[in-house]
This record gives sequence, C-alpha cells and structure tokens, in this order.
Amino acid sequence: MKFNTKTIHGGQEHDPATGAVMPPIYQTSTYAQSSPGKHKGYEYSRAANPTRTALENNFASIENGTHGFAFSSGLAAIDCVLKLLNPGDEVIAGDDLYGGTYRMFTRMFEKYGLKFHFVNMEESANVEALMNSNTKLIWIETPTNPLMKIADIDKISKIVKRKDSNVLVAVDNTFATPYLQLPLDLGADIVMHSATKYLGGHSDLVMGALMVKDQQLAEELHFIQFAGGAVAGPQDSFLALRGIKTLHIRMQRHCENGMAIAKYLETHPKIAEVFYPGLESDKSHHIAKKQMKDFGGMVSFKLKEESEAAAFKILESFKVFTLAESLGGVESLVNHPITMTHASIPAKEREKIGITNSLIRLSVGIEDIDDLLADLKRALQ
Ligand SMILES: *Cc1c(COP(=O)(O)O)cnc(C)c1O
Repeated sequence: MKFNTKTIHGGQEHDPATGAVMPPIYQTSTYAQSSPGKHKGYEYSRAANPTRTALENNFASIENGTHGFAFSSGLAAIDCVLKLLNPGDEVIAGDDLYGGTYRMFTRMFEKYGLKFHFVNMEESANVEALMNSNTKLIWIETPTNPLMKIADIDKISKIVKRKDSNVLVAVDNTFATPYLQLPLDLGADIVMHSATKYLGGHSDLVMGALMVKDQQLAEELHFIQFAGGAVAGPQDSFLALRGIKTLHIRMQRHCENGMAIAKYLETHPKIAEVFYPGLESDKSHHIAKKQMKDFGGMVSFKLKEESEAAAFKILESFKVFTLAESLGGVESLVNHPITMTHASIPAKEREKIGITNSLIRLSVGIEDIDDLLADLKRALQ
C-alpha cells in the first residue's frame, strides 16, 4: 500500500464481532476467560485493548515498522525508550530539543545514573566525536523544536552503526510525521511521536507513540509499557486513529501554508530571521530536501527588535492564530518559546542555542492562507 492508503487502511480489519467498519471503542478493563488462562487474546487492558491494538497496528504501518505502541503521552513514550538503558549508559541527544524531553533527560534520568550529552546534530561528526563504549542511545529530533534545525538521519545512523551496531538510534518524528520522512527507512531503530500533535491532528487528545521494526526490541518495549503502565486509553485510541485517516491531506495543506508564510516573513521588514527548512536560504535546506518529501507547517522567526515587549505586542495581536502551547492541529497556533513551551530550559542553555526573547513559533494550520497572511500582517504592524 502507498502512504495515502496506509493512513486509512494500514493494519486495519473490520470488527470481527459485528463487521463494524470503524473499530469500536472497547471501553473495558478486563475480558472473560472460559477457563483459567484461556481467552481470546485479551486479558487486561494495560497489556492490550482491541481499540488500542487497532491504533498500534496503524502506527506500525504508517512508519514502515512492524510494531507500534500507544502511550498516555509523548513523554511517556520517551520514558519507555530510556528505560531500555541501565545506570552508567550514555545518551547523545540534539542540543535543541522539545523542552519536556530536555527536562526528562536532565532532571529525571540523570539521577538514575544515565549520562546525557547534548550536541548540534546539524553536523553529523559531532555525534561520532562523543561516542564511547558507554554510548547506548542516540536521540535525534529533526526538524527541532523550535529552531527547525535538521539532522541527517541516514548519515548519523550509518556513522553510529559502523562504530557500534548495538547503539540504538531513536528519532522524534513529531514535527515531520511519516508523511514527510520515514526514519526507520533511513536507518533508525525507533521512531517516537507526540501523537498529541500532527497524528491526532485536532488538539483533542494527549498521546505518545513508538514504532520499531525489530522483534526483540518490540518485545522489550512492550514489557516496559506493560510493566510501567503508561498506556493510551480506548477513547483516545479511537480519536487518534480517526485523526490519522486524514494525516496526508492535512499535511499537504500544512506544507503549502507553511511555505507561503515562511516566504512572506522572509521579506517582512520587521523580521530578522526565519527558521523554515523549505527556504532555499535555510542552512540545512539541502539535507531537508534529501530526507523530507516537503517541509511541514512549523515556522519560527526572530524580530529585528530583540525584546520580550516587542514579541508580546505581536503575540497579543493575533486574531486567527491562537496564542497557545502545542502544535500540529488543524487550527493555527502561535507560541512564545521562552515563556511557554521552553520555559523549563535554563536561560543560559537557551541563549547558547539561540532561543531568544523575540523568537516566535508558528504552528501553521490548514485554514485559508489569505486569512492567515492577513492575520500575520496585522499582528506585525
Ligand atoms: C509535544 C512534544 C513532545 C511531548 O509530547 P506530549 O504528548 O506533550 O507528552 C515531544 N517531542 C516533541 C517534538 C513535541 O512537540
């Protein structure tokens, strides 16, 4: 099946009990057994639930994996990956990460004996330089949040595996989605999503996903998911599955609108810099062009007037864009990273990588582009 068919049919069967075309919401925690241990494949919903299974099979399908896992949040999915590791193990991660990922790494897992290195992954050699015999996991986010940096998944995977084939490469594919890039095909072992964002697509649920293509890795992750317990519920699983059915057409419009807005901002006299991998002026455009089908709906920019007051004035003036955290829904959102999504990153770290007072991040929705451009123009006046 091609991608645009997989979003709708990938891993799906009609309900065996009734023929229902949409998977029923199996709102049940437990399942009757005819004799102790004799059941129809379901015992208790922390281990498996049919609605979640339908979603997990779809997750696997859209990322070209063999196994998918649905979690109660994106961070719960990352937490599950890190629990594959042991005290003393080291992780190499990008230096521009979703704030909650950075917080989990440094404030939760460092105290359990994991060591984290943060590097600019635009240069693949930076990863190689930090590898040693304790390295067990490479954590790649591309494009990054909020500076839209691009890491070369294929190149990094090859470098890492050549040095040590046991080191796992994981990619947070939240911003790109499988519509734009397929990390498992590019050599990664694990794909992670905040399904809260584009996969769900309607800002109506919080969920995480993992996809893999290796049986043993799948078994280990399933054990941690089951033993740790951060599973997605049946109602949310239904909503996510419903959302994914339109992922490809939503993404097409997100990309069109994202590009139009990035181009408009690039010429605006009040803007100092636009971060969008689709612009030819973007320093990582050549890598993005190689590994992504298009460039997505996330656009960040900095003002010439580098002040919080200037940014706030603009942020308070939007009428179509909503000032809110999160991204990836059908509606356009605007965000001020340093006070909102990235407040958990220490100021010194933020400054070092360029998350400044005037940085504004847009999640460009699928509304009419004329209304979005008019709203931006008004807000920037
Ligand atoms: C939102 C987000 C997360 C965290 O996911 P939640 O569903 O909020 O727990 C992780 N990575 C990226 C890139 C995100 O945007």
